[in-house]
Amino acid sequence: MTDVKVECVQGDIAAQPDMDAVVNAANAHLMPGSGVAGAIHDAAGPGLAQECQALAPIDPGQAVISSGHNLPNRYVIHCLGPVYGVDEPSDKLLADCYRNALMLAEQYQLSSIAFPAISTGVFGYPVREAASVAMAAICEKLPDLGSVRHVRLVLFSDADRAVFQEALESAPLSGGKL
Ligand code: ADP
Repeated sequence: MTDVKVECVQGDIAAQPDMDAVVNAANAHLMPGSGVAGAIHDAAGPGLAQECQALAPIDPGQAVISSGHNLPNRYVIHCLGPVYGVDEPSDKLLADCYRNALMLAEQYQLSSIAFPAISTGVFGYPVREAASVAMAAICEKLPDLGSVRHVRLVLFSDADRAVFQEALESAPLSGGKL
């Protein structure tokens, strides 16, 4: 058993002041965009895009870390999710985003991290499939976590929150196969 708290909430990823890091559903160039990337860059201010220039471009599945600028969080972890049906294998690349983000959080000794539903917006990943990949990848990592004690999934709609909650309840606690 693990004592890491994992929860699914409805809300805005850019308004999670009690988290050490928030995850950005980034584009390859780590520039402001629509959806999550728009909300995060708007709240962080132009310093975030400036810092990100040196970190870009990134590949699908990869995660990089920057400071949080005007966000209430110390760090932003930027992940490039797979474009559904284009970047293959999509499920492994999506799982890599969650695993790599958690590994960065551990490297930086963070205790809390909040994720959005990576790839489920303009990148077209069906929410139900994305939820089961995400929750399996997170649950598989729980036994390896030392500093991270709190993982939050922040879903924009209550319908998506319910889908992620269901996936959390049925995720294997270890031994994911991706
Ligand atoms: P991607 O390009 O990885 O698909 P998007 O930002 O387009 O990323 O969307 C990812 C998911 O995040 C979608 O389900 C979308 O509804 C949701 N979303 C959009 N804005 C926010 C926000 N401010 N906070 C949390 N989730 C958001």
